[in-house]
Amino acid sequence: MTDIEEKPLNFIRRIIEKDLAANKNEGRVVTRFPPEPNGFLHIGHAKSICLNFGIAEHYQGSCNLRFDDTNPAKEEQQYIDAIQEDVRWLGFQWQDQIRHASHYFDQFYEFALGLIQGGKAYICSLSAQETREYRGSLTEPGRNSPYRDRSVEENLDLFARMKAGEFDEGAHVLRAKIDMASSNMNMRDPTLYRIRKVIHHQTGDAWCVYPMYDYAHCISDAIEGITHSLCTLEFEDHRPLYDWILNQLDIAHPQQIEFSRLELEYTITSKRKLNQLVVDQCVSGWDDPRMPTIAGLRRRGYTPAALRDFCERIGVTKSENRVEMSVLENCIREDLGARAPRVMGVLRPLKIVIENYPEDQVEDVVASNHPQDESMGTRTLPFAREIYIEQDDFREQANRKFKRLVLEGEVRLRHAYVIKCESVIEDGEGNIVELRCSYDKDTLGKNPEGRKVRGVIHWVSAQHALDAEVRLYDRLCNVPNPGAEEDIVETLNPDSLETLLNCKVEPGLAKAAAWTAYQFERVGYFCVDSKDSTEQAMVFNRTVGLKDSWAKMVSKGKS
Ligand code: ATP
Ligand code: MG
Repeated sequence: MTDIEEKPLNFIRRIIEKDLAANKNEGRVVTRFPPEPNGFLHIGHAKSICLNFGIAEHYQGSCNLRFDDTNPAKEEQQYIDAIQEDVRWLGFQWQDQIRHASHYFDQFYEFALGLIQGGKAYICSLSAQETREYRGSLTEPGRNSPYRDRSVEENLDLFARMKAGEFDEGAHVLRAKIDMASSNMNMRDPTLYRIRKVIHHQTGDAWCVYPMYDYAHCISDAIEGITHSLCTLEFEDHRPLYDWILNQLDIAHPQQIEFSRLELEYTITSKRKLNQLVVDQCVSGWDDPRMPTIAGLRRRGYTPAALRDFCERIGVTKSENRVEMSVLENCIREDLGARAPRVMGVLRPLKIVIENYPEDQVEDVVASNHPQDESMGTRTLPFAREIYIEQDDFREQANRKFKRLVLEGEVRLRHAYVIKCESVIEDGEGNIVELRCSYDKDTLGKNPEGRKVRGVIHWVSAQHALDAEVRLYDRLCNVPNPGAEEDIVETLNPDSLETLLNCKVEPGLAKAAAWTAYQFERVGYFCVDSKDSTEQAMVFNRTVGLKDSWAKMVSKGKS
């Protein structure tokens, strides 16, 4: 992780430091992360998590995890479970128990009665269509609802009957009485409560009126003693309402501060759209390794350290921008580069028979686990007469720029010998199916004086290698800003997953545990798939390639 101390304070931390200096909130810093449990968390949420929990950690305050569960029709327990797992996996712990907005339903209701009694809220019986017409537009003021001047008694009676289930959905709503001519549409008598006859995952059938987000959110913050309520910029226009509601009630008044959302190029950061990909089976699930969900990134092999580092690097500001994918990929590359053990895996095998190597001989060659970090030790690899190399690492003819094997040329096998290609065996259609080579027994782990070989390539022993499936991933979408397109499915990259079924990996990987990261030398970073891999049939996910392939793509004009 980059050291948070070295960077200038972001604008939110400057506000907090000023508050602390003025002893506002008696020096407490309490934040919250308030997801709606209507989907899995994505990389954008990671930014909010790192910000909220990070600030609490830094100022020895606390951060609540609160499920903003006021819209039961779209919410599910599986999302509640997944969200907790993701927050913990990122390395954060919330203050004591999990919070739910639904735990405060009684209080919300009591406060609503108070608003009605104070003449600050009323029951409106306009239809949805009429409500829209009365609301006006950005250029036209709205008009008062004909129900705006209902008496307190009538409002209390109707509200109680709404709660008792006497009315159908849509028959009435509770609205704040603010200002139908306000230039801020959110202040034109916003709805506070609506009738929804659905079972709630936490409260069952106890309620059939549910509070709106804007009403529930500020009161939840106040009840929990939140000091700084950090949210994304789209809530800036809601802040006057946040403040208005709290000003009507005799209750604490947290400060809402907005920051810009994280948007990543070529991906989607909207639960609704990600849900569509899951429902339409465009991906294998919320944790498909191509998904920008935290669960997907985890399955792909991303680490908490890399995601936290990423969130630190992108910073927190009020300006909207779209972060390049390479920024995220560089974070994981740096993390894994330092600590992933090196191994050898051949993705598209080409068989080699080393003709002058004794038929039954097997040697153990010593291989370092990390070229720069000796503390990671060594392992032994079996070397034998038949090996596999990468198809790409051989050409019958090539100029000197090709640092691999050519017919009659020499190349070093990583950690082993120098070999020379003597002949090529083709099938009936001219495809190369096997190479015949010789080896120089005096070259194990060293180059004799003056010996020039083209390069070093990776290999595995044919008889010892493990079979594996390898999944290579590419960007999920073909356009930099898929969120702006009408149909997300239209933007999907048809080549986002390439499955290679006949890969060969070194035998030591038989014990590889799910999620453990490895660098397949010269190929990229991989981890064992946590869902589909078995001891009999291993499956590896490529987390990221060794080099930034995005820059290349742009220069080729492919993006
Ligand atoms: P989505 O559109 O994906 O459903 P949301 O904002 O509706 O996003 P919530 O579950 O309400 O999702 O979000 C929980 C918290 O995460 C909120 O405080 C929200 O502001 C923050 N958040 C959501 N998306 C992003 C993002 N892309 N960047 C930063 N913070 C985000
Ligand atoms: Mg939301």
